[in-house]
Amino acid sequence: TKEEKEEQIRRSKALEDNDTLELRKVSRQVYLQKRRDQKLLELKDEIVDHEYIFEGVKLTEAEERQHRFKKQIYELASEHIEDVDDINEYRMPEAYDQEGGVNQEKRFAAAIHRYRDPGAGDKMDPFAEQEAWENYQSGKGTLKYGSRNKQAPADYEFVLEDGIDFIKESIMDGVNFEDEMSSEKPDDSTAKNALQKLQEERQTLPIYPYRDELLQAIHDHQVMVIVGETGSGKTTQIPQYLHEAGYTKHGLVGCTQPRRVAAMSVAARVSQEMGVKLGHEVGYSIRFEDCTSEKTILKYMTDGMLLREFLSEPDLASYSVIMVDEAHERTLSTDILFGLVKDITRFRKDLKLLISSATLDAEKFSDYFDSAPIFKIPGRRFPVTINFTKAPEADYIDAAIVTVLQIHVTQPPGDILVFLTGQEEIETIDEILKHRTRGLGTKIAELIICPIYANLPTELQAKIFEPTPDGARKVVLATNIAETSLTIDGIKYVVDPGFCKIKSYNPRTGMESLLINPISKASAMQRAGRSGRTGPGMCFRLYTAYNFQHDLDDNTVPEIQRTNLANVVLTLKSLGINDLVNFDFMDPPPSEALLKALEQLYALNALNSLGELTKTGRRMAEFPLDPMLSKTIVASEKYKCSEEAITIASMLSIGNSIFYRPKDKQVHADNARMNFHTGNVGDHIALLNVYNSWKETNYSTQWCYENYIQVRSMKRARDIRDQLEGLLERVEIEPTSNLSDLDAVKKAITSGFFHHSAKLQKTGAYKTVKNPQTVLPRWVIYHELVLTTKEYMRQVTELKPDWLIEIAPHYYQMKD
Ligand code: ADP
Ligand code: MG
Repeated sequence: TKEEKEEQIRRSKALEDNDTLELRKVSRQVYLQKRRDQKLLELKDEIVDHEYIFEGVKLTEAEERQHRFKKQIYELASEHIEDVDDINEYRMPEAYDQEGGVNQEKRFAAAIHRYRDPGAGDKMDPFAEQEAWENYQSGKGTLKYGSRNKQAPADYEFVLEDGIDFIKESIMDGVNFEDEMSSEKPDDSTAKNALQKLQEERQTLPIYPYRDELLQAIHDHQVMVIVGETGSGKTTQIPQYLHEAGYTKHGLVGCTQPRRVAAMSVAARVSQEMGVKLGHEVGYSIRFEDCTSEKTILKYMTDGMLLREFLSEPDLASYSVIMVDEAHERTLSTDILFGLVKDITRFRKDLKLLISSATLDAEKFSDYFDSAPIFKIPGRRFPVTINFTKAPEADYIDAAIVTVLQIHVTQPPGDILVFLTGQEEIETIDEILKHRTRGLGTKIAELIICPIYANLPTELQAKIFEPTPDGARKVVLATNIAETSLTIDGIKYVVDPGFCKIKSYNPRTGMESLLINPISKASAMQRAGRSGRTGPGMCFRLYTAYNFQHDLDDNTVPEIQRTNLANVVLTLKSLGINDLVNFDFMDPPPSEALLKALEQLYALNALNSLGELTKTGRRMAEFPLDPMLSKTIVASEKYKCSEEAITIASMLSIGNSIFYRPKDKQVHADNARMNFHTGNVGDHIALLNVYNSWKETNYSTQWCYENYIQVRSMKRARDIRDQLEGLLERVEIEPTSNLSDLDAVKKAITSGFFHHSAKLQKTGAYKTVKNPQTVLPRWVIYHELVLTTKEYMRQVTELKPDWLIEIAPHYYQMKD
């Protein structure tokens, strides 16, 4: 188009003139055009691809220039993200000239400089610095900045020079709130022990007045749907009521949660309320972590774990009550559980089944469970004022930061909850907020920053629940987990950028991707409601009222309709459920996705041509891993490398948190990392090398520091590996090591991941392999595909194409 052409010209000219300011402007546009992560990843991808593909190839001058330009843009844009001072510097040009904002910007930048530690970091020795880095990481739970008990002085306005205009659009009515004004928390001043206080707190929850009625209803009905506002006490109280009423005398009370963090955190809370040690009477069970014992009577677990328990106990005989909590989340595992528990209640009349949900489409659950009665816990919520932005915000990260500061300096006391899409975003905002508030020193009241996301170490998760000291304000940076799974008291302001990470799956290509997507209207209402729990609240939506009306779906599509089903199909098959098409799904998955899963399992040799489970499939189902990984482990028996296979599987299970690159030591970190790749062995073997080298040092922490590796992740890998070793024994695979023959290890990986093979095309792109006949250079196998604005592969190892036909002949014959 014309615009594109003009921009192109502007870019080339800027490059020729070496006009950095202009480049920055363009890069700022690039940065705003799409969301930051996606655009940058794509750009980085292009740069890396380019360097890899054209290694040693002579390029034309134009090509060279194009490439150099991309690199420069990338460097500028990533610099923009990492360095706050730069944001100030390069946001100036357009917007601020007109409004005379430049001076304020400069003042602000200067303020930051003044308050910064001059030269910090320069003098430290490298180990001290890494240690500091680790300490910093583990100290992230709460960070305190600014100074306490200080009112904002008159000249605070310059914090807000880039304030956002909001329009008050509507008021979400309160529910039963007036009569609750008086029944605030009990008076804490008298000397009481903590347990007594907790007991009194329990009695202030909305669910408490309905305790007896609820127990009577559970007594009278086998299956019941329970609906109540988030925070009313469903998750923490109902299992305790059941215990008090004697249900734990003849079995466990199990309560499922869609998220690991919620399962852990709620179990911890309930054990406190009951005055017992976590893991004794009250415990939790999540993948690779079982914190229960013989004594356990109340068990919180992820829905995925209960699904796995069906494998060893198909009638759930050890349970007297199952509560499928947060049913409205409709995770894949919850949806499958619905079908299984519904079936069980037909022949186990003594089993009570509770389906609990935060939203009001309870009718649907009731219909599904043969018109089960619905028990509504009258909610309690104060009115919430909803604000929308006047104009769309191009960069919601930035907008969220500005909004938080805006609330902090202009609004009365009350904590802030910000909804973000993931750990990376949370860390970015954490850091920027820290810089900005530190720069303001004593000019503003103390802001306590509390992140919460799935991988945050357990001991830090508890911090979000600590009461905010007087004169300070807490800002909780949370993922979707705070939408309904966790309730944090004292929140008065909600900042909702309107996005979350959503998994989607294309059954045709078999590609799964985790993308940042707009939330649904239902989610937006839930989020807003979080601010009205203890008093009238305010919600700041970082999108316009028009966006809300026209761009948001009413509800989130259930996960079962947008995911790879291979894992569930394998589980169901091993439960003896063969007729998947007629399985009692609440919302059936697309048949294309079911077929794809069956096809994949057949290719992996987990099913035979009749669709029945094979011996391989039975063994694979024992591992709580993706079928491709479990196949790798089962296949490693043949290649005599089961030790290596479980090491690689546990390292891959950790995800992306093994290596780290401190900002000013990136070269060192990259060199350290390259050492594990010696001989161009590929990413999988490199991971193996990391683990084995660590083991050789007797799991030394110092060694991790020296190699820029995260100790915490390694410890977790070791823990997972121990468990996989136990499972090897269960499926009767000898632990054998075959380090001298790395091709054997790679063949084992290929046995699981041949679906993920790709070859380099003449165009420079990779193409997934359907037919390995035509031999082209550079064959690879990858662990996963990640889709940003384009697909790229993560964890890649070179492959010999003839292995494909050797290892999966049936698959490739099938394709022709
Ligand atoms: P629901 O399941 O209905 O959303 P919950 O049972 O999770 O409600 O929460 C009830 C109350 O218990 C909330 O007011 C919340 O503040 C408190 N609570 C829950 N978990 C914790 C925790 N880990 N620490 C402190 N308080 C908690
Ligand atoms: Mg709950």
